[in-house]
Amino acid sequence: MLSIENMFCTTGPFEGSTKILCDMNDYDEAGSDRGFSAQTLIDTHCHPQIFYRQGRLATVLEAARRANVSHIVAIGTGPDDWDDSIALAKQESSVSCTLGLHPSEVSEPESQLELLRSLLATKPPCVAIGEVGLDYYHISEEPTVRKRQQELQAVAFSEQIRLAKQYDLPLVVHARSAFDETLRLLEAGDVDWAKVVFHCFCETPEKAQQLLDRGTKVSFTGIITYKNAAVVRESLRLVGLDRLMLETDAPWLAPHPLRGQENVPAYLLRIAEYCAQFFSCSLEQVAEHSTRNARAFFACYS
Ligand SMILES: [Zn+2]
Repeated sequence: MLSIENMFCTTGPFEGSTKILCDMNDYDEAGSDRGFSAQTLIDTHCHPQIFYRQGRLATVLEAARRANVSHIVAIGTGPDDWDDSIALAKQESSVSCTLGLHPSEVSEPESQLELLRSLLATKPPCVAIGEVGLDYYHISEEPTVRKRQQELQAVAFSEQIRLAKQYDLPLVVHARSAFDETLRLLEAGDVDWAKVVFHCFCETPEKAQQLLDRGTKVSFTGIITYKNAAVVRESLRLVGLDRLMLETDAPWLAPHPLRGQENVPAYLLRIAEYCAQFFSCSLEQVAEHSTRNARAFFACYS
């Protein structure tokens, strides 16, 4: 089982939220120019397996480190990236991984879930089950096919809720155009709400409140920086600095003004800077809160 120390710091134990995580001499000008010196960020949701397969991982991780992003959580989406996810977590001390079958990757849930169960049985260095959930946005419009796809997603999601409980792991949830049904299945699975995060939260404050009432976590991507995301910013305001969790979802969803370009974990710094402006606080406060919340969430199984 991983310890908090080797999950989130490469050079020593983390003893408090104001303590410097790693050797500050390693940082380049980018961080210190911004008056950002005593805290680092954690990208709680990204897909570096893609950079790994392209042979660009070292460059991407170095850029992240220079932007004070000290740790990233590589999110699994299906059999095609599970092996890479595990390899990355074993190879890179600044990377943790999760394993899960993304709703849009569900095709033959029986065999896919069998593979997931057998991988989990080997006790891989995996800090959560995810990303899992329901995505009704990317499925067929044709009623019969749509219904079938929804059923398959529900089967996969419910089984993975069960696996998270079996292995006492947190759950990283993807819910798109399916918020109520996602809540219903979590309820039916008698989930531990405090160990669930709704990633890339893009819903209304009313829906955010439903999660907060249950003690469920909400995390935000660079979408908060987009011009047309006023509703998401209202939810961000409601969640507040205290409960903040941040992610890039790289290589997708690059923050403004890079929208449409490839996203990388280093851009988490831009998202954090935006939050500092938004909450009228220092970048260090954003880092302190979001890093503390990320650490608590992904280590809550231990
Ligand atoms: Zn993702």
